[in-house]
Amino acid sequence: MMKVGVLALQGAVSEHIEYLKKAMEKLGLEGEILEVRRRGEVRELDGIVLPGGESTALSLLLRKNGIFEDVRGVGAIMGTCAGAVLLSKNISGGVAGQETLGLMDIGLVRNGYGGQLESFCAPLETSLGAIEGIFIRAPVIESVSGGLTVLAEHLGMPVGVQQGNYLATTFHPELSGSTAFHEHFLKLNK
Ligand code: GLN
Repeated sequence: MMKVGVLALQGAVSEHIEYLKKAMEKLGLEGEILEVRRRGEVRELDGIVLPGGESTALSLLLRKNGIFEDVRGVGAIMGTCAGAVLLSKNISGGVAGQETLGLMDIGLVRNGYGGQLESFCAPLETSLGAIEGIFIRAPVIESVSGGLTVLAEHLGMPVGVQQGNYLATTFHPELSGSTAFHEHFLKLNK
């Protein structure tokens, strides 16, 4: 039975729980979807979702709760928006000393489209089908290394990328009305 967690320290947690449950049902998979905060909980997971929120706050809270390395060790990870910042190896526009998990070969600019007023929606054609892209103070993925698969683009820039069992989106699939990205993520959990 698969066990998938949503990091529930801060940010958009409940929508991910709901979408993962729907996705699991659609795929006919047996498993448990749960909010996680503590070390014991994280260690049992097959996969974890790092939600949107504030990447600065999230990385500080990961340290404070003593789960930074445990989260880093989960076999499959989906990061959305702030979660994508956490997954990236190289970030700019961060606060001084901002730590990331550094698991994906991505160069990313925090708040790359501007501030809150530059948040926007755009229809996206992705390799998982058409989906509404909701970008909220989203980061911009400036560069990806050769080993990454681009799943979604907006204005010629990658907005959804995969590297092995890691998935990053700069938009919010948990607000899109489609469970396509959550289904794709569950398939990476073993
Ligand atoms: N701008 C935020 C950050 O860099 C991300 C915003 C979001 O997750 N909606 O942490």
